[in-house]
Amino acid sequence: MKILIVDDSSTMRRIIGNVVMQLGFSKDDFDEAEDGVKAWKLLSESAYDIILTDWNMPNMNGLELVKKVRSEGNHKKIPIIMITTEGGKSEVITALKAGVNNYIVKPFSAEILKEKLDGVLN
Ligand SMILES: [Mg+2]
Repeated sequence: MKILIVDDSSTMRRIIGNVVMQLGFSKDDFDEAEDGVKAWKLLSESAYDIILTDWNMPNMNGLELVKKVRSEGNHKKIPIIMITTEGGKSEVITALKAGVNNYIVKPFSAEILKEKLDGVLN
């Protein structure tokens, strides 16, 4: 199981990583990227089972990353959960249309992430 965590905030990446570890995964089970460009590079180099991505990031934002993943490369069908402060209905619809499998609004609890992870992985 390999998880890709994408967020421009190192604090947020640490929080998400900690939650992922609370759910029983180890540090070896996830990689981190600070923007869509870095994430895309990692995706071109290794295989991943799920992407947890922020929306607002420099260089390539989360929405652009989702569209790119869904249209090119080796991870077209990979489950993607967007974790963002953009909690408005129209943002959620935009993200779902772009191809995210689920959506979490920050701040979130470990239970919420577990529920959404279980939902997209099973
Ligand atoms: Mg951000």
